Amino acid sequence: MVSSDKSKKLQKDIDSALKQAEEVTEVVKKISEVKDSDDLKKIEGIEISEVAKKLLGTEVSAAVKEITKGLSLNTEGIEELRTKLVGRKSAITGVLRHIKDLDQIKKKIVGQKTNQIKSQFEQPTKQIISNFSSLKLEEKLKETAFDFTLPGKIPPIGNKHLVTQIIDEVAQIFVGLGYQVAEGPEVELDYYNFTALNTPADHPARSLQDTFYLEGVKDTENPEEAVLLRTHTSPVQIRVMEKRKPPLYIIAPGKAFRRDVADPSHTPMFHQIEGLAVDKDLSFGDLKGTLEVFVKQLFGEDRAVRFRPHFFPFTEPSAEVDVSCALCMGEGCRLCGSGWLEILGCGMVDPNVLEEVGVDSEEYGGFAFGMGVERIAVLKHGLDDIRRLYDNDVRFLEQF
Ligand SMILES: [Zn+2]
Repeated sequence: MVSSDKSKKLQKDIDSALKQAEEVTEVVKKISEVKDSDDLKKIEGIEISEVAKKLLGTEVSAAVKEITKGLSLNTEGIEELRTKLVGRKSAITGVLRHIKDLDQIKKKIVGQKTNQIKSQFEQPTKQIISNFSSLKLEEKLKETAFDFTLPGKIPPIGNKHLVTQIIDEVAQIFVGLGYQVAEGPEVELDYYNFTALNTPADHPARSLQDTFYLEGVKDTENPEEAVLLRTHTSPVQIRVMEKRKPPLYIIAPGKAFRRDVADPSHTPMFHQIEGLAVDKDLSFGDLKGTLEVFVKQLFGEDRAVRFRPHFFPFTEPSAEVDVSCALCMGEGCRLCGSGWLEILGCGMVDPNVLEEVGVDSEEYGGFAFGMGVERIAVLKHGLDDIRRLYDNDVRFLEQF
């Protein structure tokens, strides 16, 4: 039997537990109904509310977001809840502790009811705590750990620009023939760009090659001191010949500039590769043989090479070189018209040019050639507009 004091106390505990259970159920219910921020406002003030709702449900990732936003979840809040509901000092535990003192019938009813209440929120509470712990762990791992099992991020790896590829390819062929690669300044003196190359100030070729003069220097008293962007890579030949004695076999790849308006086949900045050979007993036959080997290596053994007489100011005789059209093999078609595609200019170096740099033109002869890199890109890859090379559109460039 239990005393009436004890009985009163038990009744109080049961009532309290029931009330608590109701509250918890109500809270859980409200929480589980939260769908938007307006709902959240309605349950403001209920501890652990929005986070508990998410933890009770399956929206774990949403809960993580809440946490990272610095919202209401904290370990103490959750632990407090658990203690209040099912902890040693909770009303429920108090009720259960007294069950042994009840008579058989009461023991059964009160026991059942209390266990029902207990299990009603014990499971969700455990779930809340378990979810919360794993979230905390995840959070901690995110902050501190590096997962070595994750696949690495592969940064996009670029490749050489088509212009660079062609320069490399051409250079490789000539290096194979015993040439050396030479370089020179892109900002050049008028003397090296024109005068030393047999193109004096009043020469008509200059008007064809009108270039970009650096401000304030074009009107200098001595035109040869004018500073300009080189119109071709030929000044490199002069600079090399000034410093080194023949025999010389060089190619000079690089940028050149002309006052052209950009169109599908012209850009104000473009690339050239020039070659120069200075040696004893060099003949036009050596020039022809060299360029035939070069063209066939670049375009293929089955392509024919043709030389056409032409004029250049610093070579005599001069010629333009054509390669047979790949489409019609020289028969003539819509692409090429005549069956031939022009690829470079060449000639025997004018003795005046050699004498200008102190090479004895009686003892030495030379030949030179020059080609446009963009032109080769057009011929090799069928480009319809060389401006595409400088649009910096990766979708275009990555095709080569
Ligand atoms: Zn053709």
